[in-house]
Amino acid sequence: MKPEYTPDGSSLVLVYLVLGTHPQKDVNVIGLLTTQLPRAGETILGHKFFIGFGGKGANQCVQSARLGAKTSLICKVSTDLLLDYTFVGQTTDAATGTASIIVNSEGQNVIVIVPGANLLLNFEDLKRASDVICKARVVVCQLEITPAVSLEALKMARASGVKTLFNAAPALADLDPQFYTHSDIFCCNETEAEILTGIPVGNLEDAEKVGCMLLERGCKLVIVTLGAEGCMMISVEEPIPKHVPAGKVRAVDTTGAGDSFVGALAFYLAYYPKLPMEEMIRKSNCIASVSVQASGTQSSYPYRKDLPQDLF
Ligand code: ADP
Repeated sequence: MKPEYTPDGSSLVLVYLVLGTHPQKDVNVIGLLTTQLPRAGETILGHKFFIGFGGKGANQCVQSARLGAKTSLICKVSTDLLLDYTFVGQTTDAATGTASIIVNSEGQNVIVIVPGANLLLNFEDLKRASDVICKARVVVCQLEITPAVSLEALKMARASGVKTLFNAAPALADLDPQFYTHSDIFCCNETEAEILTGIPVGNLEDAEKVGCMLLERGCKLVIVTLGAEGCMMISVEEPIPKHVPAGKVRAVDTTGAGDSFVGALAFYLAYYPKLPMEEMIRKSNCIASVSVQASGTQSSYPYRKDLPQDLF
């Protein structure tokens, strides 16, 4: 399959409003492997400790870049990191965002995020990056920065005809309704869908129900990721929910699978915009399901050269 766009044109930049940090240079994820997850007040023994790179946006950016996309990050970190990166602002007012992740032997995780400098990314920073936002093919936003800043980025992109992919993570129960109307694609996982709608997602039927509810709030297309079950999609064009299954694999660590999925989807939106959405989702499922077969977050994300070439 030939890309509809060449990967080096400047208009093909994918922009991630991140939050997080420069993917290659900082450490901002601390991981612990345990046989079980601790309850509140409990102290348990773990068997592995690791530190790595992260932030949802940074993860998504790395996955897109590994598939061949040209990408930009717009974010803010503390001066505790030595960086020179065009749209990575620095501040002395907060520490760089971090996340502590505990993974049990079934590959399930609990995560505590301390956003720190991410929350200081502001409208001025967006204005400085407006050229790259408004000329991008796709702008990807999440909620690890101040929600109003994320929303403003979606609005700036929309006003310039740039496709917007919004990953409602971590979810907010009182999400500003404008996020729905400014998202070409609204993507969340089962837990996030429950926080947004109040409906627990335990099976495909529940996923159909939350998909319909989110669509009614004004998005053009909703994707609810369902872990090993793949995704549920529903759109204004095709308002009947459709299940797009993931392949059966042995999951080792599912941390960051959602970011791998979003990064892959952004890549297809930017470079293969004529592919049917269901096909983009199927391919993104394939890529995310590769990521769950290795441990770590960015370290588990596959490179284009190591993937079946029919994905491209
Ligand atoms: P998050 O990491 O946000 O919780 P999910 O767990 O829903 O997101 O996973 C995102 C995507 O990763 C899924 O839609 C699927 O494509 C893939 N995936 C996750 N877990 C598995 C699994 N156990 N087997 C195969 N694919 C998986």
